Amino acid sequence: MYPVKIKVVKKKDLLIVWDDGKQDLLNLKMLREFCPCAICIAEREKQNKLYIPIITENQFTVKSINQVGKYAIQIVWNDGHDTGLYEYTFLKKLSGKENR
Ligand SMILES: [Zn+2]
Repeated sequence: MYPVKIKVVKKKDLLIVWDDGKQDLLNLKMLREFCPCAICIAEREKQNKLYIPIITENQFTVKSINQVGKYAIQIVWNDGHDTGLYEYTFLKKLSGKENR
């Protein structure tokens, strides 16, 4: 399964149209929170009671999206974070998480 169209909607969601005609709307905030890169995973793992999430709007808005091979997209966020590669299977999994 691969996307035939990817579009940022209202600076808030990512619309993915899959090759089977199905569509998923993924919240950008959620995508960033589940960023699969090593830095973010390490960051999430070290969270404890003293951890204060510092959140800015730039973290949740998209600067650009690049295709990576045939299996993933790279999202470049407006705060400059660009190490997250979102595999298509991972995006599918996230959409299941979000959709009721
Ligand atoms: Zn990350």
